[in-house]
Amino acid sequence: MTGPPDPSASSAPGAVLCSARDCREPALWALRWNNPKLHPPERRKTWTACDLHRQSLADHLDRRSFLREVEPFEQPARLERQDEAD
Ligand SMILES: [Zn+2]
Repeated sequence: MTGPPDPSASSAPGAVLCSARDCREPALWALRWNNPKLHPPERRKTWTACDLHRQSLADHLDRRSFLREVEPFEQPARLERQDEAD
């Protein structure tokens, strides 16, 4: 149960997409967050965001005091993928 939620929506196979609903842009930012009511303090959940949605997603988390860090997101390099056998 580790597959993406909607594989048919992906227009760029292998690319990690923005977490915003209906957005198909590749992720450029990683928003690290933590819900202190559910997660231990060191736990980090990650939302990915494109340039357009970084602010709105960060605001959404910040309003709930969940936002911890925002970092540039690096797409996994296909050439370095070694965990997918053909
Ligand atoms: Zn987006």
